[in-house]
Amino acid sequence: MAPKLKVAICGGGIGGLTLALVLDKYAGDSIKVDVYEAKSGFSEIGAGLSIWKRTWSIIKTLGLERSLGEMAVTFPDETPKLGFGFKKSDQAEQSENFYRMISPYGSITVHRADMLKILVDNLPKGFHAHFNKRLVAYTQPEREGSVTLRFADGTTAQADLLIGADGVNSTTREIMYTDFAESAMRAGNMDEAMRLKQHISASWTGTYAYRSLLNVEKFLEFAPGHQAATVPLFYLGKDRHIVSYPISRGKLINLIGFVSFPESEGQNLDGPSVVEVPKEDMINPFSAWEPEARTLMEGVEKSSRWAICHVRNLPKYVSGRVVLLGDSAHAMTTHIGAGAGQAIEDAYVLGRLLSDNLSNKSTLDSALRVYDSVRRPIGNFVVEHSRTIGLAYEFNYVPDAIRAAGVDMGSPKGFDLLSDFIYDTWSFHWKSMPEEDWLRAEQMLRSMLSEPTN
Ligand SMILES: Cc1cc2nc3c(=O)[nH]c(=O)nc-3n(C[C@H](O)[C@H](O)[C@H](O)COP(=O)(O)OP(=O)(O)OC[C@H]3O[C@@H](n4cnc5c(N)ncnc54)[C@H](O)[C@@H]3O)c2cc1C
Repeated sequence: MAPKLKVAICGGGIGGLTLALVLDKYAGDSIKVDVYEAKSGFSEIGAGLSIWKRTWSIIKTLGLERSLGEMAVTFPDETPKLGFGFKKSDQAEQSENFYRMISPYGSITVHRADMLKILVDNLPKGFHAHFNKRLVAYTQPEREGSVTLRFADGTTAQADLLIGADGVNSTTREIMYTDFAESAMRAGNMDEAMRLKQHISASWTGTYAYRSLLNVEKFLEFAPGHQAATVPLFYLGKDRHIVSYPISRGKLINLIGFVSFPESEGQNLDGPSVVEVPKEDMINPFSAWEPEARTLMEGVEKSSRWAICHVRNLPKYVSGRVVLLGDSAHAMTTHIGAGAGQAIEDAYVLGRLLSDNLSNKSTLDSALRVYDSVRRPIGNFVVEHSRTIGLAYEFNYVPDAIRAAGVDMGSPKGFDLLSDFIYDTWSFHWKSMPEEDWLRAEQMLRSMLSEPTN
């Protein structure tokens, strides 16, 4: 039987491949899926990822629990455990952890390459992957008809739907928002055109992340008993902070040092967004910190610097037969470990909507409208949440409760209230589930297409 839909996924990262798995599970052969990836294969750069209960629920639904769980530090289970320990570290004296954030599952920390490999290993037989296909343009008809994709190598492809899962520097978003801005201009609405133009590219947050992987065995030889070997930690300070957690069954430490220039938020980036740097660039900003943080940084042998960019408050994730998913829709700061999880949630809700037996070429607009209504508020909310807590970690934002209590953020009461703020901000990861969003989406689709829910 001919497939009911032909879907082109642009980008074979965590979001794009999860969508391929969701479509395979729920639609089988009724949706033909082609993935177009700019690189010569599926690969991940970068190091660790922390994921949480919401994301884990989708991993379980997709049957990936065992294989990914075995790659975590300990096999994940729902028992409440330490998510992260927090301490203030930008002083010469050693400090104690001021807060231990406990959550169901704790933080499930994995190597990104392991996660991608598990997604790839589970792709269906006969899955259509096309490598060295960098999307450079797309066109879509005013009404009915296929979307045409154009690639850097001069070739083209056609599909009923294009899903832009092409990451933080998304070409799909660039084309979509250039088109939106041009049509606002043609309509004489210059203010709206200017507003839309701001969404074409991701903007720099003013923060650089210096990343490194430490071999735990080697690290413990010169730092015996250091808690970072086993404990996920945040070290906080003015205009900078460190995140550290074990990955790869505890054999490696994923280490990130953040250095911020808050006044530079929103400015254009000077130079490439990822560069290899001498290890001193990562170590030196923390050289006056407490001994524990300094010792951790002294374990660094190699480092790369990532400019952290985000995409704030997109007014639409959909334009006709083109849709954004993952970082292309809501690239975010890393401060609540949520970017990959949000890409996976997009993939789950969109994949289920497209697979639904009410979805076909003629009802596609409704399915996409529901995706936008359900996922966009959540994606945009998490971007803002993540930004705000990042400012608080670096003492550049005073949470309302601290302000209302009239205490100093660095006082014992200030740290108690900061701990509450940290818990409240992170708790969306475990207080509600993406299945609830899917059920809401299903309800909306059925009422739009006037059919009772089973
Ligand atoms: C320092 C750092 C730490 C992070 N820590 C966490 C964490 O702890 N937890 C968490 O959940 N998230 C974390 N994230 C965020 C997470 O990595 C991203 O949100 C996630 O990878 C987004 O997935 P994606 O599929 O949308 O994009 P990507 O994974 O970036 O995939 C995009 C894919 O599209 C391809 N592509 C790009 N352009 C084109 C094109 N024009 N044509 C065809 N293909 C194209 C790329 O090659 C790539 O394969 C972190 C990010 C950073 C930078």
